[in-house]
Amino acid sequence: MYDILFRGCRVVDGSGAAAFPADVAVAGGRIVRVETDLDGPAATLVEAHGLVLAPGFIDPHTHSDLTLLADGRAESRIRQGVTTEVIGNCGSSAAPLRGAAVAETRAEAAQLGVTVDWRDMDEYLARLRRQGAAVNVAALAGHNTVRGSVLGYDDVQPDGERLAAMERLVGDSVGQGARGLSSGLFYPPGSYAGVDEMAALAAAARAAAAGRASASRGATAVYASHIRDEASAVLAAVEEAMAIGERAGVPVEVSHLKLSGPPAQRLLPELLDVVAAAADRAVPVGFDLYPYTASGTWLIALLPYPDQQGGAEAAAARLEDPAVRARLHADHAADRDGWQERSGVGDWARVVVGLCPGDEAATGRSLAELGDERGRDPLDVTFDLIVASRGLADATFHDQSEDVVRALIAHPAVAIGSDGWSVAPDGPLADLPEHPRTYGTFPRVLGRYVRELGVLRLEEAVRKMTSLTAERFGLTGRGAVRAGAWADLVLLDPGAVADRATFTEPKRFPDGIQCVVVNGRVVLRDGVRTAELPGMVL
Ligand SMILES: [Zn+2]
Repeated sequence: MYDILFRGCRVVDGSGAAAFPADVAVAGGRIVRVETDLDGPAATLVEAHGLVLAPGFIDPHTHSDLTLLADGRAESRIRQGVTTEVIGNCGSSAAPLRGAAVAETRAEAAQLGVTVDWRDMDEYLARLRRQGAAVNVAALAGHNTVRGSVLGYDDVQPDGERLAAMERLVGDSVGQGARGLSSGLFYPPGSYAGVDEMAALAAAARAAAAGRASASRGATAVYASHIRDEASAVLAAVEEAMAIGERAGVPVEVSHLKLSGPPAQRLLPELLDVVAAAADRAVPVGFDLYPYTASGTWLIALLPYPDQQGGAEAAAARLEDPAVRARLHADHAADRDGWQERSGVGDWARVVVGLCPGDEAATGRSLAELGDERGRDPLDVTFDLIVASRGLADATFHDQSEDVVRALIAHPAVAIGSDGWSVAPDGPLADLPEHPRTYGTFPRVLGRYVRELGVLRLEEAVRKMTSLTAERFGLTGRGAVRAGAWADLVLLDPGAVADRATFTEPKRFPDGIQCVVVNGRVVLRDGVRTAELPGMVL
């Protein structure tokens, strides 16, 4: 007796090999047979009628650390066919928490209705397991969180003792189940760290992963980085990430690869050379990308680094001082330290406000529109919103090029990752503004870039969503349709799969995702979510 039998599928197995006809049987959480003409009996029979059965998609880049605790249904993920997500990216993770990082994380969690009752990675992961989630989760320890824990949020350098304390936090987190270290060198306090600090911490992650290899959990510790610069200095920033990985002896993942702003977009040929040459580095180097021409981050990231210092509340408080605002106006007009390009702002219409507690009317409006409506300079609007939200406002930045997305998405070393999070359009997280990548990333690649534009083959796109990411993050037994693998599966219609989430209506579910299975249990059937929460912490 099988738990589930998929009959009459076209199997796209995740390896990149051509699709083939087969039936797929699931029992005890695993795929047990991939053969033609399998007979039941099965508790659940799914007639596929020639639709594509693929491994559940693995999202290497999300920020669901806290949202999963608010709503474990992960509907924005499973509706896309995503069955595993890697959390703790861009240097920001829910654990470990010490010192000043406790208050920062509490403020962020409070916005989502989550109470922080953990400190270490094992305590956080235990809470996640206890509450349950629809998707599998692999966690990274975030460098900004670790640095905030030990050094706070100011522009300071660690002495030997403090560096050792950070190494212990990273090592302990990996020992307790994190799959590696993430960095967000674009954001303070991560931006204050140099290569030496990062290499030391990545090495601590590697040592801890080697220590747990005996427990057959794999020796992989990944260094995943939101690199220091995604605009004109992007090539040096990619090189820095690779150098950190090589010094520490760990694989590198360059997160959400992009070229921000027109000057950087001229670097596409050079960037493609760097991506191609990454295969010759001393450690494995991977890249991921989301298929959109707009990014999203905190509004505070528009400020020069010294003015971001001390964390969200401190930065907001400083902007209440008219003298500080006057100095910033002068700096912006003079484009000091390349501020205008780094902030992506040559055009205020390209920056659209998202979540803005304290000034909800700003949500969905561009800084140019708000400037007109309120009779304020857009830079002052930016300051106003940061003050009103106590530094928590975020925004969408329409600063990239479709040509760059197409060129990068076609490269075999580039995986698909959303930079989104687990949310749902109903329930406790319903009111969060979203970037459409949260609901649309994976179907958008399959619909737009595979079917409509022919930029890549279906089998290759699925490889970039499954086995490629499983291999990079050491997720053994995932990302493949073969006997013995975990039964994470998605049944989809390749002729209909498409994203429907847009920048104006970002919470629309995709089309064409028929059935999704996580660890052998059905979480989505005929477009209807079940009550199952079968996700595991990997
Ligand atoms: Zn990032």
